[in-house]
Amino acid sequence: MELTGERTTDAIDRPCPVCGRPNGKLFRRGNIDPRRISEFSYASRKEPECMSHTLRVCEGCDLVYADADVSSETLSLAYADAAYDSGFEAHCAARTYHRLLAPWGGRLGAGRCAVDIGAGNGALLPLLAESGFEEVIGIEPSSSAIAAAPADAREHLRHGVFSAEALADVQPSLVCAFMLLEHVPDPVSLLRDVHRVLCPGGLAAVVVHNRRAPVNRLLGGRSPIIDIEHVQLFSPRSLRAALSAAGLEVLAIRSFRNRYPLRYWIRLLPLPAGLKRRITASADRRGWGRAQLSLPVGNLFAVAQKA
Ligand SMILES: [Zn+2]
Repeated sequence: MELTGERTTDAIDRPCPVCGRPNGKLFRRGNIDPRRISEFSYASRKEPECMSHTLRVCEGCDLVYADADVSSETLSLAYADAAYDSGFEAHCAARTYHRLLAPWGGRLGAGRCAVDIGAGNGALLPLLAESGFEEVIGIEPSSSAIAAAPADAREHLRHGVFSAEALADVQPSLVCAFMLLEHVPDPVSLLRDVHRVLCPGGLAAVVVHNRRAPVNRLLGGRSPIIDIEHVQLFSPRSLRAALSAAGLEVLAIRSFRNRYPLRYWIRLLPLPAGLKRRITASADRRGWGRAQLSLPVGNLFAVAQKA
């Protein structure tokens, strides 16, 4: 995946959004076809389209990033309009994240506030409330995701894009940003805002795709992480660099297994859509479609603390 090392003379608008270094090496040429962009292109847990911006790799911090200028205005509009159809899968992801957070509960104390940025349909929020947080808040830009939220989650959701100002009324001890940092134009600025809103000693919990994970290296351009909506792709080193650049002290970075129903895993396979539909229908007929399966699909979980 990382073999195209030649330096091109193309103009590059965007320096590395983590360490600021300009002129990254070409990683993958862009192949965005405007005719194939649908309202689902910016939805979470969609079917992979294998379209991406031109990507470069930073020799300073190991980040892979889109070299085109990706303005926050364009992106937030795209996410506000994104279609949302993954309630059950969101619930599965939330349970995985909740399991990852469990060992850190002791550090947070009781009765505090937890925030989930990019909360989707709010699936994680009732689980956080169950763990003893007095106040839980989800921030989500997509109105269709909020409309799809179950009642026990919707009351905790705020519609909009995260900023420190949007949380001026609370001082959370936990801020979660799961599968979010790939999508924003300035991930370090977002993490600085997380640092700003956290109470002293508070924790930031982050999940990202790991571009260096075996499965992603193996699939190369067919990996679901090669995607129009990902304007950067992290590895353990670049994730650590991003958290540190925001003033957060990294306590842990580890890979983990995601647990999803078989029918969701089939959807991610790099196969033609018609074939996947037939495999899914066949699995459903046998009653396997909803069977849960844990797989190491190349994701990273990190916890970092505000001093
Ligand atoms: Zn860099």
